[in-house]
Amino acid sequence: MTKHLIKSLTLLAAALFLAGTPIQAQETSNARFTVHVVQRGENLFRIALKYNKFAEEIADANGITDSDSIAVGQRLIIPLPAGAPQEQITHVVSAGETLANIATAYDKSVSQLMELNRLAAADLIYVGQELTIADGDPIARVETTGSSQPSASNAGKATPVPAIAPDAGIRHSFSRTGDLSQVFVHTVQSGETLSEIGLRYNQTIDALARANNLADPGLLSVGQRLVVPGIRLPQLTRELPESVIAFTIDPLVFSAGRSGRIELLTTEPVTISGRFLGRELRVIAREAGKRHNILIGIPMFTELNVYPMTLELRNEFGQSTPIGANVQVIAGGYGRQTIRISDSELLAPEVEAEETALLALLTDRFTPERSWINSLSLPAAAPINAVFGILRSYNGSPFDRYHGGVDFAGAPGTSILAAADGIVVMVDRLHIRGNTTLIDHGWGLYSLYAHQDETLVQLGEVVATGQVIGTVGSTGRSTGPHLHWEVWLNGVNIDPMQWVREVFP
Ligand SMILES: [Zn+2]
Repeated sequence: MTKHLIKSLTLLAAALFLAGTPIQAQETSNARFTVHVVQRGENLFRIALKYNKFAEEIADANGITDSDSIAVGQRLIIPLPAGAPQEQITHVVSAGETLANIATAYDKSVSQLMELNRLAAADLIYVGQELTIADGDPIARVETTGSSQPSASNAGKATPVPAIAPDAGIRHSFSRTGDLSQVFVHTVQSGETLSEIGLRYNQTIDALARANNLADPGLLSVGQRLVVPGIRLPQLTRELPESVIAFTIDPLVFSAGRSGRIELLTTEPVTISGRFLGRELRVIAREAGKRHNILIGIPMFTELNVYPMTLELRNEFGQSTPIGANVQVIAGGYGRQTIRISDSELLAPEVEAEETALLALLTDRFTPERSWINSLSLPAAAPINAVFGILRSYNGSPFDRYHGGVDFAGAPGTSILAAADGIVVMVDRLHIRGNTTLIDHGWGLYSLYAHQDETLVQLGEVVATGQVIGTVGSTGRSTGPHLHWEVWLNGVNIDPMQWVREVFP
């Protein structure tokens, strides 16, 4: 289905390109559109009404001569008003910068940047963070340029690409009457190669090069947008019942080691249960049972594939309705590291497995009240020197282990701060993690602080965001003083920085 869509987008782009060239040799024209999938009971008139268009405009855009001839499942191009192209601009935070001076430098306001980057507070930025200064247009769009012949060096860029950044936090909402389908696009980050991008999406270099008409797969530029073939956006497995106002899956595809959110809005109070990746989902009911949120942690070594999510809605009269969607899981793109250590330093894997199993068990307890607001705070005022998720090979072994937290290079004695309000559910000395504190933040979310010199809180103690709970040390299996910070969601170890950058649910 995605293939067809790419094809139709490419065809339309080619048509615009041909039509535009002779008349506007100097100018850049921008045509924007979205794609509508025809649902049962719809006609051209009703679809036009939905998008504030005339039926004739849609018929014209799709070469339809007989307005009765549209079929359920048919994809229609809906033209949108042309807009100025907006480049995505990003800024990497360096030491000593504040959001206020970054905003001034780009002629933006602090609140604009906070909104664009989903920051809960202005001081939530960190060195090395990539901030979005101006966002690309999130609506599918085709750009045609006046240049007559794409040269080898810009062949990739000349390919018209609708813009959807995978990690931009764009929500994919289903409504009962329409499904706005979009092509999945990856924005090239600094230092990325086509082979790394391929690994992340489980695609060959060849497939990516072909889909993007790349003459030289070695020539990528930062910010370049690549269509990723074979990525399926969430697809409903059955029609949504009338009572569902919105069914939102965010992000569009899930990444191993990261978190996703589901939201369901209904016209009547319902009870929801469901399963995904072989686990029972923890469904949070709000607003008298008319709003439901589900937070999902994707285990790091989940096989890259498309998985069914099945949900069951039960109303107050006991009537139950199944709904479902197929959601794709891709790799997190965390990178790899080969570590050489002496055999005596190599820890028996069973010790590690035992400790991880204990934490999985403790963090699988669900507290129905949440105590965090929007996102997590950083747990130390210190530079980050190891990120979450790097796949590790020890002395040439397979890459079957990964770094399960974020390391902060704090000097010994540096304060460790609670990342959010919560309750201390464990203070213990573990083999690998040394002096460790585990805090329950509710709704299945936990944070863990390892290798501490001193722990300053007790089991059962209620803590507040930013409260000093211990000091940086080198206890347990540690090569030097640092804080190793982990986040767990419903018994799954996940990337903590996503919870610092993004707002949940
Ligand atoms: Zn670590």
